[in-house]
Amino acid sequence: MRIILARPRGFCAGVNVAIESLELAIRAFGTPIYVYHEIVHNTWVVQRFRDQGVVFVSDLEEVPEGAHLLYSAHGVSPEVRHKAAQRRLVIIDATCPLVTKVHAQAVRYARAGYTIVLIGHAGHDEVVGTMGEAAGSMLLVQAPEDVERLEIADPAKVAYLTQTTLSVDDAARIIRRLRKRFPQIVGPSRKDICYATQNRQEAVRRLCGEANVTLVVGSQNSSNSQRLAELARSAGVPTHLIDGAADIDPAWFQGDETVLLTAGASAPENVVQQCVTLLQQRFAARVETRTVCEEDVRFLLPKELRGRDEG
Ligand code: SF4
Repeated sequence: MRIILARPRGFCAGVNVAIESLELAIRAFGTPIYVYHEIVHNTWVVQRFRDQGVVFVSDLEEVPEGAHLLYSAHGVSPEVRHKAAQRRLVIIDATCPLVTKVHAQAVRYARAGYTIVLIGHAGHDEVVGTMGEAAGSMLLVQAPEDVERLEIADPAKVAYLTQTTLSVDDAARIIRRLRKRFPQIVGPSRKDICYATQNRQEAVRRLCGEANVTLVVGSQNSSNSQRLAELARSAGVPTHLIDGAADIDPAWFQGDETVLLTAGASAPENVVQQCVTLLQQRFAARVETRTVCEEDVRFLLPKELRGRDEG
């Protein structure tokens, strides 16, 4: 067996900062400490923090007044921020700056009187947060067919935004339909699908043609991991989205395959390495790392934690 280990894969800058923020917050303020929704969409990461005394909540009523609350990488709506202020919670905002940028664009377009079409997945934490920034003037589109169903009073005043972790190809299809139906539509100069999502998809696009099987390490609720699996499947490669090595079924392999191994932006590298070890032990797999592009993106810690990372 040959393993093609895709690079880049795994943690992005936003996830790195969110995890580091929670680690620092535990050290600085102790536990229990509260996080609104999952810190990132990964079973291992969430469980590791639960074991340390972190409490993940979906309703601020669950957080005692005055306690520390961390916002996850996916961001929150103004309504959540308002409720947190009412409960006098001490906020640590680990929202990824690339999500914050989309929020700012939503506010800008809404103030300028645009109807905003958000391309994204209903119910995803990021989409809920972004839609909350301009609740009365934002419509969600999930597929090209949805574009025809849009009812917009002033077709000359329409803008679009995208969730950061979409399929680049799906988003491009929807944007083409939007441009056709609303020729005056405006949008971000560069798509808002983030660099990490784009790079991980590009690596799978370029490498999956050499593979008989693709394994994507990531949790089922991780949007960008799901998109990686879809991309490989759409290229005709049998693909499995796995949370970790225990999900690998040896019956998927004859033992002489080329396996493309990648990981979503919230999947830890040690879990990827456990998968490599299992395939090495079971199928004497040899590993070949293939780099499609270099990443050197870093984000600052939330302002509430700056200076606490030294020593
Ligand atoms: S996937 Fe992109 S938008 Fe999401 S946390 Fe990572 S860098 Fe930020």
